[in-house]
Amino acid sequence: MSETIQPAASRRNFIKAAGAGTAAAAFGAVSLTARAASDIKFDAEYDVVVCGGGGGGLPAALFSRWLGNRVVILEKAGSVGGTAAKAAFWYWVPNNEPMRRAGIADPKADYMRYVARLSRPEQYDATQPKLGLSDWEYEMCEAIYDSASPAAELLSSKGALPYRHEAAVPDYWAELPEDKAPRGRVLFPKDGLPSMSDGGRVAIRTMSAAARRDGIDIRTGCRVQKVLVDESGAVIGVESLTEEGTLYRVRAKKAVIFATGGFTHDPELRKNFLHGAVYGGCAAPTNEGDFVRISSALDVQLRNMNYSWMAPISLDKAIAKDGSLSGIFTPTGDSMLYVNKYGKRVVNEKLAYNEVCATFSEWDGAKGEYPNLTLISIWDQQAQDHCGSDDYGSLIVPKGSNDRHVVRGNTLAELASAIRERMAKYQSALGGATLSDDFTRNLDATIKRFNGFAKTGVDQDFHRGERIVEKLFNGPVSKKADQKNETMYPLAAKGPYYAALIVAGNLDTKGGPKTNSHGQVLDTRGAPIKGLYGVGNCVASASARAYWAGGGTLGPIIAFAYRAAQSANGGQP
Ligand SMILES: Cc1cc2nc3c(=O)[nH]c(=O)nc-3n(C[C@H](O)[C@H](O)[C@H](O)COP(=O)(O)OP(=O)(O)OC[C@H]3O[C@@H](n4cnc5c(N)ncnc54)[C@H](O)[C@@H]3O)c2cc1C
Repeated sequence: MSETIQPAASRRNFIKAAGAGTAAAAFGAVSLTARAASDIKFDAEYDVVVCGGGGGGLPAALFSRWLGNRVVILEKAGSVGGTAAKAAFWYWVPNNEPMRRAGIADPKADYMRYVARLSRPEQYDATQPKLGLSDWEYEMCEAIYDSASPAAELLSSKGALPYRHEAAVPDYWAELPEDKAPRGRVLFPKDGLPSMSDGGRVAIRTMSAAARRDGIDIRTGCRVQKVLVDESGAVIGVESLTEEGTLYRVRAKKAVIFATGGFTHDPELRKNFLHGAVYGGCAAPTNEGDFVRISSALDVQLRNMNYSWMAPISLDKAIAKDGSLSGIFTPTGDSMLYVNKYGKRVVNEKLAYNEVCATFSEWDGAKGEYPNLTLISIWDQQAQDHCGSDDYGSLIVPKGSNDRHVVRGNTLAELASAIRERMAKYQSALGGATLSDDFTRNLDATIKRFNGFAKTGVDQDFHRGERIVEKLFNGPVSKKADQKNETMYPLAAKGPYYAALIVAGNLDTKGGPKTNSHGQVLDTRGAPIKGLYGVGNCVASASARAYWAGGGTLGPIIAFAYRAAQSANGGQP
């Protein structure tokens, strides 16, 4: 059955449809009586229907296919890849095969202490059998340890995602006493560039080539909007809306696996679930929380909706919906610092991206404001000349690159006036926030203090450059003979100076329906909803507030894709 419901829609309108009010009407679940279920004419039938063809969907489809199933991927965008296509595609795989081969020990008990310490620091207790985690969190974290490596090895051996290992790459808290295997857990797509900037493109290319080679059907421009449920409550298929405006219904004999990403691009969900002001992010624009809306008709338990994989982003680019928007993974520049609207430094600029973001949402209860709602990165000509990079969200870009997010001034006073003007342009997005009257005076004092620290090499306020991960993301620098700390250098006494506005953003969100460790979506009694699975950012991640390491999203996602495919096939990993 292929039923026309609206005139052919442009891709843009098709994508936007859910963000607007149409979403509530279009999304959900259809419960069918036994008779209706047998009467319904599906357009196609597969063993496994995978919704979303990104970082979770492609591996889930591949694992299902390699178990002998007939598999289709229904993808909303015009091509597969999702957010994963933009990613560096590091994937964090504890106790991975190259580590074992190299004799790097990574016992499960140590790994569990590391992840528990960071996911639920307020409850962490190393003396407790489950370390302070809930049963669910403990089981989910164990599953990552048990399955990430077998999953990565299988993808590699089938030629879908051959990997490269760099034993020196650290976790983000490599110096914590709980981290007994601080280096070596990250894998990279083998054919990616050494800069790793094209990892996602490579991984999506190799995985989708393997999908086509091995007979997985891929239908793009197909937005899943409903699950079809039989009388017993089992999910038996999905209804999707094609770009041409027709309905396409697919029966799933064994399982429907959702991998439709998070809700970064649904401002309503963002505003109501995330903490503080988050200005969108760099997830695929098609990630609009569709599974939250679809599953809300199914008696599911939403978990960890308040957390996301965060990264600072350029305010200019976020507001312009600039396709080149990326998280500021690499806060380039040594003669560079961040200040708030009072001209005060409030954070170690080189902290890992997810961690810097906690600063934006600090609330001043006395003044009734977010003093750090937007931070301002400031740098001098030296940093401009030597630290420019087009990689991963760097605000300091080389000459000739798109630099519309940058403002300039020959003096600090001129710079302040240019920043003030830029903030005025965005006053409705910033709640009217502007620079304080004493901004320039404070900035001058802040730079003098920073310069003093840079000369001695010791940042007494924020300890910049003291942790291993800060050097990993430092970006290009020209090493100066008198430089004591590679992440810091005094800003010049004379201009020109440069600045850019930064706000909190997401790579994507990490809340959604709760699943068990086999990817089965659970109902409010904790029982699996038969036939319904979820992997990736469309379901709840047990990592809660943690971003354990580079690859901390994709490594676990691949593990759960592996486990979901096994379970859907009637087995257990
Ligand atoms: C710049 C950048 C760099 C990153 N680097 C890394 C990294 O190095 N390592 C790491 O671990 N993580 C990284 N991430 C995060 C990582 O990319 C995501 O966590 C990961 O891609 C999530 O996989 P997913 O399958 O949940 O979502 P996605 O990869 O976003 O895939 C979701 C797919 O579902 C589709 N979809 C949405 N709704 C529907 C619907 N209703 N019907 C059908 N299809 C639908 C979307 O179009 C999309 O293709 C990075 C992210 C960004 C933005």
